[in-house]
Amino acid sequence: MYMNRALRKEYLQAIGIESWVRRGAPVMAAIPPSPAPAESQREGGIDWPELESRVAHCERCPLHATRTRPVFGVGSRQAQWLIVGEAPGAEEDARGEPFVGRAGQLLNSMLRAVGLKREEVYIANVLKCRPPGNRDPAPLEAAECLPYLEQQIALLNPKIMLAVGRIAAQNLLRTESPLGRLRKQVHRFGRSQVPLIATYHPAYLLRTPADKRKAWEDLKFAREVCARV
Ligand code: SF4
Repeated sequence: MYMNRALRKEYLQAIGIESWVRRGAPVMAAIPPSPAPAESQREGGIDWPELESRVAHCERCPLHATRTRPVFGVGSRQAQWLIVGEAPGAEEDARGEPFVGRAGQLLNSMLRAVGLKREEVYIANVLKCRPPGNRDPAPLEAAECLPYLEQQIALLNPKIMLAVGRIAAQNLLRTESPLGRLRKQVHRFGRSQVPLIATYHPAYLLRTPADKRKAWEDLKFAREVCARV
């Protein structure tokens, strides 16, 4: 298939096989926002340290018994972008950080392609604790854990959410629609109606490289939506 040079460059960068970083181009969502107002650092009487402590000691669902440690989330607490995955895998459970390993590296590359460094976004999961054997989250587990993510969103006040993977998108949007139908549209999440874009999970993209191009389209779409907010 024909691909022009500029598009090819963008695409290669997105999939992390070229280290070229565009300089001088408009950096849309990468501009650090002005400091968040004080009230956004404390939502419903809970601030970041309190929320982190609650998650660290949480026993609200059976996953507390099998986790190594909860994976709270990582990144800038002034981020404009919030990336939400499904749940920690084995490596995340061991390290206490979401999206590490090869999938994490691919996510980082894709973020770089839209002008974002990993440390400029916030990354979290629907579930804070690893389901044994990486099975899908049970409905009760998701229901018990989602309030933590909602509190993180309230504290962050992001401009855009990127739901990565079918499970994350379906849980956040409370739907059973396939990912293919959830992509390419602007959903809204929660009380603050944050724009939400659904895309593929990087672990899936590592198994199905043919869909990397679609994920790249999703990221560019999210960048456009973020610039309009
Ligand atoms: S998955 Fe969520 S609700 Fe369940 S124990 Fe972990 S932090 Fe608590």
